[in-house]
Amino acid sequence: MEEVSTPVLVVGGGLVGLSAAVFLTWQGQRPLLIERHPGTSPHPRARGVNVRAMELYRQVGLEGLIRDTESGRALAGNSGIVRMESLAGRQAPGFSRDYLESGAEDVSPTGWTLCEQDELEPLLRERAEESGADLRFGHELVGHSQDADGVTATVRRRDTGEQYTVRAGYMVVADGAGSPVRERLGITRDGHGVLAHYLNIHFRADLTELLGERRFVMAYVRNAEVTAGLLPVNNTDRWLLHVPLSPEEYAHRDGWGEERCEAAVRAAVGDAGLPVKILGAQPWEAAGLVAAAFRRGRVFLAGDSAHVMPPTGAFGSGTGIQDAHNLAWKLAMVLRGEAGAELLGTYESERVPVARATVRQAVLRSLDRPGRDEPVPEGAILPDHVVALEYRYPVGGAVPEDVLAAEGGGGRPGTRAPHLWLERDGERISTLDLYDGRRTVLVAGPRGQRWYEAAARLLPPVTAHRIGAHGLADPSGRWAGAHGVPSDGAVLVRPDGFVLARFTGEDAPGTAPAEALSALPGLRAAAAPAAESTTGSRRPE
Ligand SMILES: Cc1cc2nc3c(=O)[nH]c(=O)nc-3n(C[C@H](O)[C@H](O)[C@H](O)COP(=O)(O)OP(=O)(O)OC[C@H]3O[C@@H](n4cnc5c(N)ncnc54)[C@H](O)[C@@H]3O)c2cc1C
Repeated sequence: MEEVSTPVLVVGGGLVGLSAAVFLTWQGQRPLLIERHPGTSPHPRARGVNVRAMELYRQVGLEGLIRDTESGRALAGNSGIVRMESLAGRQAPGFSRDYLESGAEDVSPTGWTLCEQDELEPLLRERAEESGADLRFGHELVGHSQDADGVTATVRRRDTGEQYTVRAGYMVVADGAGSPVRERLGITRDGHGVLAHYLNIHFRADLTELLGERRFVMAYVRNAEVTAGLLPVNNTDRWLLHVPLSPEEYAHRDGWGEERCEAAVRAAVGDAGLPVKILGAQPWEAAGLVAAAFRRGRVFLAGDSAHVMPPTGAFGSGTGIQDAHNLAWKLAMVLRGEAGAELLGTYESERVPVARATVRQAVLRSLDRPGRDEPVPEGAILPDHVVALEYRYPVGGAVPEDVLAAEGGGGRPGTRAPHLWLERDGERISTLDLYDGRRTVLVAGPRGQRWYEAAARLLPPVTAHRIGAHGLADPSGRWAGAHGVPSDGAVLVRPDGFVLARFTGEDAPGTAPAEALSALPGLRAAAAPAAESTTGSRRPE
């Protein structure tokens, strides 16, 4: 049997697998991705790309391309959830909740973006391929085993039935909610189980006139014939209708042929004679479940294979995209020999608590929607941007009490470093643009020259910046305060933009950064003697 070797095998070419391939190529790796379907998904499913996912895509230069897709452009001005009898009928007061208010305008350089999955996946595919990933559609994983040095996978070409072997250093499993790999590994899931069943109807009908000037994200429709969610794909002729089904209806969903789907669409629109073309109909289960483990040796679960949640809040794919990013920089560091394999253990210790907290938030939102209106404890639902951005990772092994904290990170270790607008060579950049995903970064305050110099001697190498030097300016003068350090202090930030440590004028530049780096398992960091700094480490930029 033919044998192919790769540093990382990614199983599944949905949003999470494709994102993993993009993030790995960004790290200079050339992963192999296999996807059982012949192409990317033709059906729009996930559409809300949350603010953290957008930050991660911004890091790899995809933010503008995502906003520039057909749905990205068409839906850029859409907001809010409305309630109506039908699109042509009476509109009730909108569905409003404090937690829906974005609030992310000042906390991120980017924002929540609507981009349909059938446009986002091809974009990710193209980027991964042009960056050197080997993407094989129509190839499926049929089995795998692992030993101390790697994973051996058996892959089948679905067109010819031919099988071949892939020998990989690591395997990232993004094979979706039903995850055959998770099942084979015997990893169980727990949580809230199935919450509801739906049929997701994708249709073409020109609703431009009926829609008028309205620009909503979603409309809850309720009348004598249908109860459903109506969602614009392009505000004109492409739409989605989410029809809730009872468990019995779901079991007999074959009864939903084209005619029945058309009738549901016409009832939701409120026009019995509307010309409609059904483009697809996908059944799905809304559930809140988290896998008991995200890792078995060299095999890592990411995305829906690790956690599923109801779409309320649009956190599903974003959480998986965060998984993929978290794994990519760690795998790359280990593969480059900059960190020991212990670093990979932090994938599970960081991502499992975040997945649990996020699933809980999505479930609470699903109980608080029209038609459910189940009691939710006051204040239990946190604002969307808090769920998407303010999650915390353990520091020194201690899991934070509140994985999601409404008050924001404020530069504390374990939190995402705050966003502020700076200027570099006269151009506006975000503090987040200083973290390129590949290296740890030390940012010194305006009077923190000694931290900046100490960074040059660190191994593995870090990138260093000093506010107020080398063209980097802080026009608002808020950098130090926002990070909770004095102007002669510094912050050490991981490649993913999470704060590793903060230093004040009282800490020792000769030892403190290396000690802080060493707090990351697997990183045997050192401060090289000053004389060796020009050859042994990267000089500050
Ligand atoms: C109706 C709906 C609306 C949603 N809206 C949003 C939203 O607005 N925002 C949001 O963030 N999330 C949303 N979600 C959630 C989001 O769709 C998922 O979280 C996300 O798509 C999961 O991506 P994934 O790559 O992990 O899994 P999937 O998209 O399921 O991809 C898994 C892939 O693995 C492949 N595969 C499986 N087995 C094998 C094998 N053996 N070999 C090779 N390939 C294999 C499958 O063919 C599939 O393509 C929504 C979900 C639904 C159902």
